[in-house]
Amino acid sequence: MIDPIYLKRVLAELLATPSVTGHTEVIVARLTEMVQELGPKCTFPRKGGVQVFLPGRGPMVLVTGHLDTLGAMVKEIHSDGTLSFVKVGSYMFPSIEGENCTVLTRKGRTISGTIFTTEPSVHIFDEPDKLERKLKNFRIYLDEPTNDAETSKALGIQVGDFVAFDPRSQFLANGFIKSRHLDDKAGSACMLAALKAVQEIPRHRPVVFYWTIYEEVGHGAAAGIGEVVEEILSVDIGLVGTGQTSSEMAVTICAKDSFSPYDYQLTNALVRIAENQEIPHRLDVFPHYGSDASVALSAGHDLRAGLIGPGVFATHFYERTHQEGLQHTAELLLAYLVDIPA
Ligand SMILES: [Zn+2]
Repeated sequence: MIDPIYLKRVLAELLATPSVTGHTEVIVARLTEMVQELGPKCTFPRKGGVQVFLPGRGPMVLVTGHLDTLGAMVKEIHSDGTLSFVKVGSYMFPSIEGENCTVLTRKGRTISGTIFTTEPSVHIFDEPDKLERKLKNFRIYLDEPTNDAETSKALGIQVGDFVAFDPRSQFLANGFIKSRHLDDKAGSACMLAALKAVQEIPRHRPVVFYWTIYEEVGHGAAAGIGEVVEEILSVDIGLVGTGQTSSEMAVTICAKDSFSPYDYQLTNALVRIAENQEIPHRLDVFPHYGSDASVALSAGHDLRAGLIGPGVFATHFYERTHQEGLQHTAELLLAYLVDIPA
């Protein structure tokens, strides 16, 4: 059985831990502790991330979610003390306008700031609405007494420092969850909940749980998959919005994304399992999307690939899901692991 209280607790903790792609050692250490609290030992691919192997019966599967998130990197320190940045991962500029952020210096200091355009006040600028929302018009304004580059540099800030966005996580009493980075801390938490539950079941498939750290830049699960693995199942966000079947209250099974159709037999098996277990689910198609399962296929691994995940609204923005969607994702993952092919 999936423990909803555990699921919510680990999700809250993952969301509170910054993990911009490329700066993930803190979340990897915390996830390792979380796994060890459940019993199993972790192993660590050279490129980073966390793996856990549980022996079992039948063809081996690898379940993957990603710990890394969208963020930014300092590109330039300006003469007025503000910072320019480049994106880490893919998102719309308006999605970060006005957002609190933290500059993570390479010496370990954290410095608070806010992301605005170069015209962040209607009281000063003539037509700030008309300013184009593009890279050169955005700045990080540090919450420090700095008005020049030397003072900003003296704080320890350098070009190449990572910038994490404030997740602004909210767990509402009615079950809705709003936060940045539900992609893919939601999937990562569902994997922990399924790992906790599957250990209490005597018969299940041999499984590798693999939390990757480079998914948002496109090479997460390109390495670290053994020859003996036959199936890969990504646990990542489902897309809720106009034209989509996905729901925040259900688990989505993805039939096709912009990279490729998912494996026909595996996708059908996931639908069959969800139907048999009466798990609320939706079959959907994602127009602009790739997963770590796609990455593993592109890297040349010979695998059947599938994708499931909770329905999430406003993805790569300020995202929203519901406890129901998380619960049903973890339930489907668990049911899949104990569904041993004849
Ligand atoms: Zn994702």
